[in-house]
Amino acid sequence: MYDNNNIFAKILRKEISCEIIYEDENFLFFKDIDPKAKIHVLGIPKVECVDFSEFVSKHEDSLVSQFFKRAEYVINILGLNNGGYKIITNSGLNGGQEVPHFHIHILGGEKLNFKL
Ligand code: 5GP
Repeated sequence: MYDNNNIFAKILRKEISCEIIYEDENFLFFKDIDPKAKIHVLGIPKVECVDFSEFVSKHEDSLVSQFFKRAEYVINILGLNNGGYKIITNSGLNGGQEVPHFHIHILGGEKLNFKL
């Protein structure tokens, strides 16, 4: 079940500030507070969803598709298309998810030395 007190819910309600890269009525992309790469941006939808599966299964195809279109737009804003980047989403205990609101990590700006 979705926890309304998770940090990203608080960020969406503007109770906690963040460094915004892009925002519209449906999505927010902002800098990770503890960057694991030179550029580390988090992308979240503004709907309640705990993880990737919930986002994709419980929400309209158009919203899911828009989210990834916006992610690609943000990748362009960040200038990551030339050098490359990683997109990661963690889910649940086994996935090492810490914040239970679906998000993607966009990482780049340097050679990323961790491999999957
Ligand atoms: P997860 O492990 O859930 O995939 O990733 C959660 C991410 O949220 C971590 O990379 C962590 O640094 C980031 N984070 C946690 N709290 C905050 C916060 O208050 N503000 C921002 N901007 N990022 C946060």
